[in-house]
Amino acid sequence: MIDIPGGALEILGRLNDAGYDAYVVGGCVRDSLRGIAPYDWDITTSATPDEMKEVFLGEKIIETGIKHGTLTIRSSAGEFFEVTTFRVDGEYKDGRHPENVEFVRDVEGDLARRDFTMNAIACDAEGNTEDPFGGEKDISNEVIRCVGDPDKRFGEDGLRILRALRFAAATGFAVEEKTRASIHRNAGLLSNISAERINSELTKLLLGDHAFDVLMEYKDIVTAIIPELAPSIGFEQNSVWHCYDVYEHIMRAVDAYKGDDACIKFALLLHDVGKPACYSVGPDGRGHFYGHVEESVRLAGPILDRLKFSNADKEKITELIRYHDIRVEPQDKSCRKALGKLGLELMEDLGHVKKADISAQSEYSRIREFDKVDEVLKIARKIASSGACLKLRDLAVGGDDLIEELGVAPGPVVGNILNELLKKVIEDQIPNERGALLECARDLYANGVPND
Ligand code: ATP
Ligand code: MG
Repeated sequence: MIDIPGGALEILGRLNDAGYDAYVVGGCVRDSLRGIAPYDWDITTSATPDEMKEVFLGEKIIETGIKHGTLTIRSSAGEFFEVTTFRVDGEYKDGRHPENVEFVRDVEGDLARRDFTMNAIACDAEGNTEDPFGGEKDISNEVIRCVGDPDKRFGEDGLRILRALRFAAATGFAVEEKTRASIHRNAGLLSNISAERINSELTKLLLGDHAFDVLMEYKDIVTAIIPELAPSIGFEQNSVWHCYDVYEHIMRAVDAYKGDDACIKFALLLHDVGKPACYSVGPDGRGHFYGHVEESVRLAGPILDRLKFSNADKEKITELIRYHDIRVEPQDKSCRKALGKLGLELMEDLGHVKKADISAQSEYSRIREFDKVDEVLKIARKIASSGACLKLRDLAVGGDDLIEELGVAPGPVVGNILNELLKKVIEDQIPNERGALLECARDLYANGVPND
C-alpha cells in the first residue's frame, strides 16, 4: 500500500482537477512497495511547465530544471515537491545527457525512459499503479532489471551501471542476468561520466548494507572507477594477520563499518591501496608491506582529486589513511600523545577505521585488538574532558612570556621551545605550571632546542 503524504496528494488533486494526469513516481513508489519510508516524493504529470504555472498561479514555484520540465511547487503546508512533465529523452550523443527532451501526454512514455523496472512505477492519487514493465513483480522477487534492452540503456547513460550497483548494495536485490552481463560488457562506459555523478552514486553504493557482495562481484566496475585498486585483486598477503587477498580485505573492511560517514567508507576503500607496491618477503618467508601507509596516502591524493572531493573531505580521508596503523597503547601517556597529535574527533573516527580493518583480518588476536581500540578511546575521552594540556594553547605559558621574561629573540625559536615544552608536559616530564615551564624554557634556550 502506498501511503502518499497529504502535501503530495494536494498537488496531484490540483492537477487532476485541472484535467491533467498526475502520479507519484520513482524512488518513493519503489521504497513504499518495499515497506521503507521514502526520502522524498517526486511527482510526474501530463501538464507542461507552462500549464503547471497556470494551475499553481500566484503560488510559490521554483524553476528547478525548466528545460527538462521540472518545477518545484510548495504545498499549502509549506513542503516542496518536484513536479516533472511526462517526457521522453532525446538522443544521447555523449553517453551522458539527452540532447533534448520531448514532453509527452502519456505516462507510459515517461516510464519507459526510466532506468530500472522498480523505478518505473507510477501511482495516482487513488493508489492505482501504472506498471508497464513489471516493476512490482521484480520488487517482490527482489530483482533489478533494466527497462528495455540493457546494452541500449547503459549506452545512453553509463551512470546507470553504477546506479544498478548502488541499488543492489542498498537492497540486496539480485541483478537480473541480462542486465548483469551487460554491466560487465559495458564497464568502459563509465569513463564518459562526470566525476560528481560517479562520486554521488559510489558513495551510496559504499554505504549500502549489502555493499560487500556487489564490490566482490563487480571488480571490473570498481577498477574502471579506481584503476589503482586493480593490483590488489588476488594479491595474497602471506601473513598470520591476514586470510584474504588485499582486495577482499579492503572490501571486507569497507563493509564492516556500518555507520553513515562516507569519509570513513572512502578511507577504508583506499587504506591499503598502496600495499601491492610495497610487498616484500622477510627471512621468515612471511609477507610484509613496509611503507604501505605512505604509498596509500600518495595514491589516494589523485584519486580523491579525480572524484572531486571537497578539500575538507579529502583532508579527513587522507588523515584517516595516514594514521590507520598508528599504535596507541591503552595507557595515559600514549593516549595523551595521540590526543595532542590527532585530537579526539579524529581518534574517534580512527577507532571506526581500525575496528573495520581488524574485523577484515584473520582471527589472530582479533578480540584483543578490538578491545584495545575501545580501551584507548575510553582513556582518550576521559583525558579530553579533564581539560588536560594537549595543545600549545593549553600551555600555562605563551610566546610572549618567553620573549618578555626570558629575553628570547622573536622568531622560529619561540615556537620550537613551546613545542618542546608541550612534548615534555604531555610526556609527564614537567607539570603544566608557569614556574616550571619558564625554568625549563630558560634551560632549553641556553642549551639549544632539539629541532625535530
Ligand atoms: P533515491 O531514493 O536515492 O532518491 P531514486 O530512485 O529516487 O532513489 P533519483 O536519482 O532521485 O533516484 O531519481 C528519481 C527517478 O528518476 C528514478 O527512480 C528513476 O526513475 C529516474 N532516474 C534517475 N536517474 C536516472 C537515469 N540516469 N536514467 C534513467 N532514469 C533515471
Ligand atoms: Mg529520489
